[in-house]
Amino acid sequence: MPTIAERLQQVRATLPEGTTLVAVSKFHPIETLLAAYAAGQRHFGESYVTELLTKQTAMPDDVCWHLIGHLQRNKVRLIIPFVHLIHSVDSPRLVAEIQRQAEKIHRVVDILLEIHIAQEATKSGFTYDDCIAFLSNYSAETFPNIHICGLMTMASNTDDEAVISREFATADRMFNEIKRRFFPYDDTFCQRSWGMSDDYPLALQHHATLVRLGTIIFGPRQ
Ligand SMILES: *Cc1c(COP(=O)(O)O)cnc(C)c1O
Repeated sequence: MPTIAERLQQVRATLPEGTTLVAVSKFHPIETLLAAYAAGQRHFGESYVTELLTKQTAMPDDVCWHLIGHLQRNKVRLIIPFVHLIHSVDSPRLVAEIQRQAEKIHRVVDILLEIHIAQEATKSGFTYDDCIAFLSNYSAETFPNIHICGLMTMASNTDDEAVISREFATADRMFNEIKRRFFPYDDTFCQRSWGMSDDYPLALQHHATLVRLGTIIFGPRQ
């Protein structure tokens, strides 16, 4: 069995320059995260706010914490002081709450808009049309404490690589269109968060800049 350090090294070797590996550590104990930290890993992703808070307290201060799971509005305030990037922003009301809480502590918080592309109705996110409608009404002046850095999506949970590939291609096209229409002169609108352990090579083919990898680094979750 390769160690966590070895797996990290193997995966990093497959990532193009400029791609960020977010180590998804949900359900894994602190010792596991510390082993990855010791191997140089600094970006960690968690899906649940309560678990994120526990781990943030236990881990060194220079970890960059990514919230990748559905975020309830009543939990926003808990993560705003330290979160590095919120991937899973899936509604205008959530954006408004992030703005409200970030303003209170004079922070500008980086977020991604989650787009729903997968076949499953269970996955959350803006539809493309809702995202366009939201951005049409959005202005950086009205949301001074939010910084939209790009898009996030999850592909369908299927073994059919053609389906997954098509979904990532769709996400990439949506990114380009949204960039052209709403962020043409903003170089910081540049992040594409797609790809998990089973599908990240396909995500990289479709210009992912952030890959969210759990199982391939840490093994199966308990
Ligand atoms: C759990 C999770 C991942 C990591 O999944 P693996 O298949 O273990 O790599 C990535 N993204 C999101 C949104 C997740 O919830």
